[in-house]
Amino acid sequence: MKLIDGKRISNDKRAEIKEKVGKIKQQTGEIPGLATILVGKDPASQVYIKSKIKACEDVGIKSFHHNLDENSPREEIIALIKKLNGNPEVNGILLQLPLPQNRDAEECINAISPLKDIDGLHPFNAGLLNLSKNWNEIIEKNILVSCTPLGVIHLLHKSNIAIEGKTAVVIGRSNLVGKPLSMLLLANNATVIMAHSRTRNLKEICKSADIIVAAIGKPKFVNKDFIKTGAAVIDVGISRTAEGLCGDIDFNAVKNMDIEITPVPGGVGPMTITMLLENTLKAFNNTEKQLFNK
Ligand code: NAP
Repeated sequence: MKLIDGKRISNDKRAEIKEKVGKIKQQTGEIPGLATILVGKDPASQVYIKSKIKACEDVGIKSFHHNLDENSPREEIIALIKKLNGNPEVNGILLQLPLPQNRDAEECINAISPLKDIDGLHPFNAGLLNLSKNWNEIIEKNILVSCTPLGVIHLLHKSNIAIEGKTAVVIGRSNLVGKPLSMLLLANNATVIMAHSRTRNLKEICKSADIIVAAIGKPKFVNKDFIKTGAAVIDVGISRTAEGLCGDIDFNAVKNMDIEITPVPGGVGPMTITMLLENTLKAFNNTEKQLFNK
């Protein structure tokens, strides 16, 4: 087994971002800014928000945090989003999901200006991703893509894992992870299979894959029987169990296989936050371009 070290790859990327932020400050006097919104007091969400704010501080991005009451009506969340849309110091807006009591977030997400939608969830950005012809176009057009999928692609690229022509199975089809990741793998010329809870013969399908990404949220769901020798295995899942944080892959059961694999924690998690910083920079540059019609 070869470990894909998300922490190291993420630290390298954060150092690059810090340098870019420093240059922006020096050349324009401006500081890219990220606004985070947390509705309620979910402990896991509080931890995520805290690490996002800390990561901003570490690279010199300004952060603006807003904590709304658990029972805040949708109108209040949308009013805050609209205020942030109009704030020139805020380049990216992150609404921490899920909303409490499983409230639907669609209207709130759609209220975020597409230029500040650093989670890539707005239909405008999701549409741009789906219409993009290849990876270069996604990069050149500075398209805002969901952070976790972007982080997964970055991990594969930085680990020199070939994607072109490979068979990739993505387990999970959420708008946040599975769908955008499938589009990114396709843009990198993989042959992509999107699997989900109604997929039949999942084990056999996975066994044919060169790249497996598990984004399900079921601890240790993927075991040896799903994985072929030589595969790259990316574990997006995070579940809190009695043993601590646990991914969707049964790490101990597969660790003696000849595969490359991301650990949990220390794999995809750090990359997600790093890509949030990267997207905030992208959003800053997109706004600059628009302002000066570059
Ligand atoms: P989600 O919206 O709940 O989606 C889960 C997906 O898994 C659904 O598409 C579902 O299929 C599929 N699924 C569930 N049971 C399955 C089964 N038995 N076989 C095959 N597919 C199955 O979750 P998400 O937001 O995509 O997140 C997935 C996991 O990634 C969670 O553990 C989450 O905590 C983690 N996550 C981690 C990061 C990170 O930074 N590392 C970021 C985001 C999410 P259906 O569509 O058919 O229901």
